[in-house]
Amino acid sequence: MTSSVTADDPVSLHHVVVVGAGFGGLETVHHLARAPVRITMVDRRNHHLFQPLLYQVATASLAPSEIAWPIRHLLRNRREVATLLASVEAIDKDARLVRLDEGSMLEYDTLVLATGARHAYFGHDDWEPFAPGLKTLEDATTIRGRILIAFERAEQEGDETKRAALMTFVIVGAGPTGVELAGTIAELARATLPADFRNIDSRKARIVLIEAGPRVLPGFAEDLSTYAQHALERLGAEVVLGLPVTECSTKGVVYGGKTLTAATVIWAAGVQASPAAEWLEAPADRAGRLKVEPDLTVPGHPEIFAIGDAAIVARPDGRPVPGIAPAAKQEGAYVAKVIRARLGGRPAPAPFRYKHAGDLATIGERRAVIDFGWIKLRGAIAWWLWGFAHIYFLIGVHNRLSVALNWLWIYARDQRSARLITRGREGEGRSGQS
Ligand SMILES: Cc1cc2nc3c(=O)[nH]c(=O)nc-3n(C[C@H](O)[C@H](O)[C@H](O)COP(=O)(O)OP(=O)(O)OC[C@H]3O[C@@H](n4cnc5c(N)ncnc54)[C@H](O)[C@@H]3O)c2cc1C
Repeated sequence: MTSSVTADDPVSLHHVVVVGAGFGGLETVHHLARAPVRITMVDRRNHHLFQPLLYQVATASLAPSEIAWPIRHLLRNRREVATLLASVEAIDKDARLVRLDEGSMLEYDTLVLATGARHAYFGHDDWEPFAPGLKTLEDATTIRGRILIAFERAEQEGDETKRAALMTFVIVGAGPTGVELAGTIAELARATLPADFRNIDSRKARIVLIEAGPRVLPGFAEDLSTYAQHALERLGAEVVLGLPVTECSTKGVVYGGKTLTAATVIWAAGVQASPAAEWLEAPADRAGRLKVEPDLTVPGHPEIFAIGDAAIVARPDGRPVPGIAPAAKQEGAYVAKVIRARLGGRPAPAPFRYKHAGDLATIGERRAVIDFGWIKLRGAIAWWLWGFAHIYFLIGVHNRLSVALNWLWIYARDQRSARLITRGREGEGRSGQS
C-alpha cells in the first residue's frame, strides 16, 4: 500500500521525503521554500525538540513545552509540505520506497535521512533502566522525576545509610551534557531546595560526575576544562576522572573497582546513531553513523542524503564534522542547495564545508565556558552570552520570553518552577529502588 497523504501540489512534482524534523531535517525543508517540489516530512514524534536545553527540563528549570514545538504548526504556512506522524522502519532503495510503521509505503524521488542519534551504553543496554540517558522529553521528565523523588524519599527515610544513597546523584560522562547536569543538580540541591525540606539538608547531597577520560569537557581547550572542573568543585560536585564506569545496577555504579551506592544515576556518555545505515545496508562507523560522500549523499545513491547526527562526513583536515546542532543545520541547508541545483539543471555546488562557530557549555552558578577558537571566554560573561545565544535560537517569541523570564527568576530567586513529579511516586523510581 502506498501512502495517500499528499500536499496541495500536483503529484507530478518532484517528491522530497525528509525523515526527521530535528535541526537538520527542518533546515532542509526551510531552505526548499518555493522550490519546484512537494515535500513529505516524516517524524515519529509530533514535535521538534531543542535538545541543547533538555537538561533544564531534567533539572526542573524549564517546562517541556518551552523547548518543543509541534512540527505541524511549524510547517503550517508551507502548503507544499505534508507532515506525517510515523516511524520509518525500512527503506527499499531500489524501488525508492520508505516503509512506515503499520506497513504503509511512501514513494520518493529524493530522500533526506535526518534521524539523529541516541545515547549508547557501549554494549550494556541492560544498564538503561538504572541509568537513563537524556535525548527525548520523556527521558527528561523521567530524570526530573527521579531526582525529585530521591529527595522526597530521603525526607522520609530514617536509616542514615539509605538516606545517603538517596541523596547521591551520579552522572556518567563529563561532556557538555554531563557537566551541565552536574552543575544544575548541585544548584538545585544547594540553592533551590534547602528551605523546602524539614528532615534533610539538601545541601548535603553528593553529586558525583564520573568521566573515563582525563578531563571534563574534552572537546574544549584544556584551560577551559580545568576552569569548568574547578567551578563544579566549588559548587560542591565531585569530579572523578580517568575511571570508566564498569557497572550500573539498582545499587548504583561501579568504577575503578569501587561501588558507589546511589539512588539516581544519569547516563551522559556515548552516542549511537539511528539505524539509517542498517536500513540502507550502507557503510557506517562504530557509532552507526552513515558514511556519506562529500556532497552528503549515500555512496552509490545520489538520490539519498543523510545528514546531522545520523551521518558522518570528514572536514578537509580529516576530522569529522561534530554531532552538534549547527552542523546538522548547515548540512540541511546544503542538501536543499544541491536539490535546487539539480532541479534547476545547474552544476552541483562545491562539496559540503562545515563552519564551526564555537563550543559552549554552562557549568552552573551562573558560569559558562565558550571556546570560539580565536577567543575563549569563561565565567559570568560567558554565561550571559550562552543565555542570549540559546534564547536567540529558540523558536517563537512566546518561548523566548517564557525561557528568558524563567532564567531571570532563577537568577534572582534561585527558584525553579518546573519541580513537578508527573508520573506518580512509583512510576518514576528505578526498578528495585527503595
Ligand atoms: C542532551 C543533549 C544536549 C545537547 N546539547 C547541545 C548543545 O548544547 N549544542 C549543540 O549544538 N548541540 C547539542 N546537542 C546535539 C544536537 O542536539 C544534535 O547534534 C542535533 O539535534 C542533531 O540534529 P539532527 O537533525 O541530526 O537530529 P535530531 O535533532 O535528533 O532529530 C532527529 C529527528 O528524527 C526523528 N526520528 C528518529 N528516528 C526516526 C524514525 N525511525 N522515523 C521517524 N522519525 C525519526 C526524531 O524523532 C527526531 O525528531 C545536544 C544533544 C543532546 C541529546
